[in-house]
Amino acid sequence: MGKRYYCDYCDRSFQDNMHNRKKHLNGVQHHRAKKAWFDHFRDSAAILHDEQTKKPCRKFLQKGICDFGPNCRFSHMSEEELFTLKRQVEDERRHREDTEDSNVPERSV
Ligand SMILES: [Zn+2]
Ligand SMILES: [Zn+2]
Repeated sequence: MGKRYYCDYCDRSFQDNMHNRKKHLNGVQHHRAKKAWFDHFRDSAAILHDEQTKKPCRKFLQKGICDFGPNCRFSHMSEEELFTLKRQVEDERRHREDTEDSNVPERSV
């Protein structure tokens, strides 16, 4: 059985050979997926940072709704959501360190 190349960005695998790899890595779909992946990473890290510096929104936590919506200066995230997000950011960061060149300087978030 031949080796499979698994692309994390696209979440798909294919038979690992030069042709397939080249074709895939130069593909529009892959570039899109890769960009989305990095955007997503940046987003969740930024959101986490934001939410962690905010106080919880009492109105939202009590009623599940808040007039200010996403513009509220208090956090609309439950502890559980915050925890999930935190874990996600950590996972993504670890993942990034595995796949990226190691000479990329650490981001101070
Ligand atoms: Zn890909
Ligand atoms: Zn609110």
